[in-house]
Amino acid sequence: MYDVAIIGCGVIGSSIAYRLSGFDLKTVVLEKENDVAMGATRANSAIVHAGYDPAEGTLMAKLNVRSVDLTKELCEKLSVPYAQIGSLVLAFSDEESAHVQRLYDRGVANGVPGLKILSYSEAKAIEPNIADNVTSALYAPTAAVINPWEYALALAETAVVNGVELRLESPVDAIVKTDAGYAVTAGGETIEAKYVINAAGTEAGLIHDMVLPHTFDILPNKGEYYLLDKSEGTRAKHVVFQCPSKVGKGVLVSPTVHGNLIVGPNAVDCAAGDTSTSADDLAFVRKMAAKSIPSVDFRQNIRNFAGVRPNSTIDDFIIEAHDGFFDVAGIKSPGLASAAGIAEYVENLMRENGVALEKKADAVDTREQIRFKEMSHEERAELVKKDPTFGRVICRCETITEGEIVDAIRRPIVPRTVDAIKRRCCAGMGRCQGGFCGPRVVEILARELGCSRQDIDKDKTGSYIVRERED
Ligand SMILES: Cc1cc2nc3c(=O)[nH]c(=O)nc-3n(C[C@H](O)[C@H](O)[C@H](O)COP(=O)(O)OP(=O)(O)OC[C@H]3O[C@@H](n4cnc5c(N)ncnc54)[C@H](O)[C@@H]3O)c2cc1C
Repeated sequence: MYDVAIIGCGVIGSSIAYRLSGFDLKTVVLEKENDVAMGATRANSAIVHAGYDPAEGTLMAKLNVRSVDLTKELCEKLSVPYAQIGSLVLAFSDEESAHVQRLYDRGVANGVPGLKILSYSEAKAIEPNIADNVTSALYAPTAAVINPWEYALALAETAVVNGVELRLESPVDAIVKTDAGYAVTAGGETIEAKYVINAAGTEAGLIHDMVLPHTFDILPNKGEYYLLDKSEGTRAKHVVFQCPSKVGKGVLVSPTVHGNLIVGPNAVDCAAGDTSTSADDLAFVRKMAAKSIPSVDFRQNIRNFAGVRPNSTIDDFIIEAHDGFFDVAGIKSPGLASAAGIAEYVENLMRENGVALEKKADAVDTREQIRFKEMSHEERAELVKKDPTFGRVICRCETITEGEIVDAIRRPIVPRTVDAIKRRCCAGMGRCQGGFCGPRVVEILARELGCSRQDIDKDKTGSYIVRERED
């Protein structure tokens, strides 16, 4: 019998698992895919929003603002890339300048520190490539960019080190109330848990309906992006947003925490799991981005991708307790930015609902990650002397060594796919997008996991790379 079963291991499931792993609980996380962070958490804008956007008094406003400092602390403790670069919302007319003023007022009411309204010349002084017809801008110094999937992975990995059980490829398809709690069927097996936490992203509505009367719908909504090479990475210095308009919410242009430039997203209603991109939608994204920063060079594009927002019919996060079943649903943007505060809120909600939470004496809350290219020459020499695999560069675009790939494979959540390696140590994230290092990553994975190259998928289960049987 488990104390807690968490359904879904995106940033919300992993944040809750991390938080609960500090208590004396037997916890299991049930994730339907073959890795952590395979839903909205792996394809978003990666912004830790400052918190001026959500309406005052909503959970989104409270938990976003509460989480800004918590996220920074967590990234530091767990060795997750984080950069507090600040954000700008650009206005292009008097009407939009009035919107910027409303965002400022809302931000102040939400408790966002350091907000300022800048004139065109003040904005141009700190963000030189913005368009000449900007009328004013809202500056939020606490906004940051992070690596969202590494954040979720680091949280989940630390939870596993603290004894949380993670079951991958375990899609929950039935939940039955029992005298002791709930019987949850996932991947053909039924487990018993006293409490269930529903963190299933775009499928959270389906999970809710297995236990409770239907009260909300999830409305999946797609956002498409360009990811540009590092040669464009300094085109913007801040996260540069636009005001929402008749043709959409406005796209952003921002440096990523890895030094690339990200441009997007649009907003298109779609089916859950539809991460396709289209030429027309991307042309729209390009056109909108050029309004903010006309000089973005889209010839430096290295990847297009899309993520699906778990929007819902409720205009806020849905975090509720019902007789030992906890919904953490409809976690749309700013869900990534709010994840740390959401986990804290869920902990308090559990206490209020009679869950005994006793601190575990030996829980760890930190994690280390080797990043060869960030080391000094002396540190690199030392490492290569100890382990020569750190002297073999596999991904030349990102300078990722064999030692880092092997380290990723030997960590508590074992990666089994080429993209899982990319998410853990950035091999394949560069200009060639794995064109050169991909086959070598397959070889290393097969060698370390003791399997055939045919068994190594690119991404989700079944996305094979090597098809024919080897001799
Ligand atoms: C285009 C876009 C841009 C965004 N930009 C930002 C941003 O800049 N900043 C920000 O704060 N937020 C942003 N967001 C929102 C943010 O990404 C989400 O709020 C957050 O990732 C939600 O996390 P989650 O864990 O709830 O969902 P997910 O990451 O989708 O995780 C849910 C998990 O549940 C699993 N699952 C589903 N059904 C089952 C089942 N039956 N059994 C077992 N497992 C199941 C899924 O496989 C998945 O891994 C953006 C989202 C999108 C799509």
